Amino acid sequence: MTYHSGRHFLQLPGPTNTPERVLRALSKPTIDHRGPEFKELTPRLLEGMRWLFRTEQAVFIYPASGSGAWECALVNTLSPGDKVLSFQQGFFASGWTNVARSYGLEVQVEPWDPRRGLTPEAILNVLEEGERGDEIKAILLVHNETSTGVTTDIKAIGRALRESGHPALLLVDSVSSLAAMDYFHDDWGIDVTISGSQKGITLPPGLCVVAASARALQAHDSARLPRSYWDWSAQLEFNEQGVFPYTPATNLLYGLDEALSMLREEGLSNVFARHAEFGEATRAAVQAWDLELFALNLREASNALTAVLVPEGYNADDLRAVILNRFDMSLGTGLGDFKGDLFRIGHLGDLNRLTLMGTLAGVEMGLALTGVPHSQGGVAAAMKHMMKGVIL
Ligand SMILES: *Cc1c(COP(=O)(O)O)cnc(C)c1O
Repeated sequence: MTYHSGRHFLQLPGPTNTPERVLRALSKPTIDHRGPEFKELTPRLLEGMRWLFRTEQAVFIYPASGSGAWECALVNTLSPGDKVLSFQQGFFASGWTNVARSYGLEVQVEPWDPRRGLTPEAILNVLEEGERGDEIKAILLVHNETSTGVTTDIKAIGRALRESGHPALLLVDSVSSLAAMDYFHDDWGIDVTISGSQKGITLPPGLCVVAASARALQAHDSARLPRSYWDWSAQLEFNEQGVFPYTPATNLLYGLDEALSMLREEGLSNVFARHAEFGEATRAAVQAWDLELFALNLREASNALTAVLVPEGYNADDLRAVILNRFDMSLGTGLGDFKGDLFRIGHLGDLNRLTLMGTLAGVEMGLALTGVPHSQGGVAAAMKHMMKGVIL
């Protein structure tokens, strides 16, 4: 490997850049996970996660990746043979349905254009299909589909579902939306929200977090899918005492403590406004380049990442390789069916205006070097947009 001076640009939509403060917190010596100091940390973290999920109900923290949390949501609320509903939102939505199938759930996957956000109507149409709709026990949705850069209006869906009176549980993946855009677990009527540490929360990979409503806890009482490690009962019982039923990822928990402090210091509304500005500036650049956003509707284009299609006959991974080799920047690849067709610019987590400008400059130079047909001026367009947000 060639040596690159300066800092690597990790502009993936996860894992994201870990701030210095969090790195320092991670490097503290590991303590007794049953000792008095640890027993003060646990309740502070659970309270912090309640604040981030905007919930007053149960929250859980596990040492696992986001995919583990998918499993956690299912095994705690459902029984073998239960029917669950999902839509073709993209790579992560299908990942979750694969887990559901492995556990013997009956998964109904409805077709959907992954370039658009899911609508309440699409869901209600299925739920209102008579007996077939009545049988649905849970709906699995992805808030921000990281493979497509399309955000779904979960608030509207939550409201429509509650108004319909249908008893299905609403399970939502917020892995790449939590701490990057508005999310209200309680107000939106979500039953289980799952997320991970390595995206908006800015920790390295390794923790997953889960919020569960009272309805979800009630479902847990009669759910019969096999569960052990993920069982909410043990977790609740031990968390009550300030500890975990196993050896927790102590150092990642230090990091979480610091990351939550940083989010509080910045203020969640400022965090979300920053992400919105970065999303808009990036889209302004893509437009100026005359490239195509994967998201068809600007309103649904994600503020956490931007998925950009490359023209026919060009390979997005060749572009990514040149950008990595020449400018030491990692961009997200096309996942699943989109491999080679698009690249993804991550703009969530710990970054500022100049980090984003450097990122966009790297993309613009990469486009020129690889001969991908485009117009110049994307960086200039992003700067122009960004300056509107700067108050002198
Ligand atoms: C990253 C991601 C996941 C998977 O998380 P892992 O930590 O890689 O297991 C799930 N859902 C979405 C939307 C994601 O962005």
